[in-house]
Amino acid sequence: MVAQLIDGKALAIKLRREIANTIDKRVAQGLSRPGLAVILVGEDPASLIYVRNKRLACDEVGIQSSYYHLPATVTTMELMNVIQRVNEEKTVHGILLQLPLPSHIDDDVLELIDPKKDVDGFHPYNLGRLAQRRPLLRPCTPYGIMKMLDSMGQQYKGKHAVIVGASNIVGRPMALELLMAGSTVTVCHRFTADLGSFVSQGDIVVAAAGRPGLVKGEWIKPGATVIDVAMNRLENGSIIGDVEFIKAKENAAWITPVPGGVGPMTVVMLLQNTLSAAISRDSVLPT
Ligand code: NAD
Repeated sequence: MVAQLIDGKALAIKLRREIANTIDKRVAQGLSRPGLAVILVGEDPASLIYVRNKRLACDEVGIQSSYYHLPATVTTMELMNVIQRVNEEKTVHGILLQLPLPSHIDDDVLELIDPKKDVDGFHPYNLGRLAQRRPLLRPCTPYGIMKMLDSMGQQYKGKHAVIVGASNIVGRPMALELLMAGSTVTVCHRFTADLGSFVSQGDIVVAAAGRPGLVKGEWIKPGATVIDVAMNRLENGSIIGDVEFIKAKENAAWITPVPGGVGPMTVVMLLQNTLSAAISRDSVLPT
């Protein structure tokens, strides 16, 4: 068997177009243009690129983005003040606080973001809603993966999903999404013994450890769907995932490429969440 590629890039382009059309219609009806406040602390090179790409994506679909670039020396209190300001700003429907934050900043600042504007879906309220199967704003990467799986007609009920990685932003919410969809879910992490024995049972395998080559191609069950979330940058500048792609492709039915798989979907779900936040706000507060 040679796996078919799951083209996240093409799906993301289609969804962006749909989001742009919905925004055009909103604005034509006199409703507000969705607004995203992007907060970046410091000069981490990868974060600078991510923020730039997210803002360009906003421009493309007609979301108005505002940018708060704070120095790495900012205090927790100063950052809290900025969050408070954008929480109250009426033209802002979504707030993106780019992670990671410098180590001196208290991680609890994330909880200060108004859950209705938490377009990253990381606030304990939104994660709690997802855990209770009543999701509102959902973490972008797992949400985007579900859209990709849905688009290729993936079945969930009676399937065993194996997730490699248990972080708050990918692995854990991914487990909640797949559980909600009806799969039986196993979450593996750095203390898991004999990783291969779990991966080889997966009808759906999601790799998100950030360890190149960790998931061996020979572990993949024939006919499985393989989603590689990881983006590991090699010394030569190229980016590879966690899965041994060439070998895994021989066993899987479906597989995501890296790059061009999950990454573009993460950005589009941020746009979708910002639009959803604007639509929800309209329903309670006329503009
Ligand atoms: P993280 O470092 O916060 O978490 C990594 C997880 O992998 C941890 O739970 C850890 O226990 C587990 N792990 C580490 N070594 C392992 C091993 N040997 N066996 C099993 N599990 C192991 O990372 P993260 O923020 O969740 O990101 C993971 C990867 O996904 C990174 O490569 C990151 O760049 C990528 N990522 C991509 C996107 C995207 O849009 N494509 C979004 C977020 C993260």
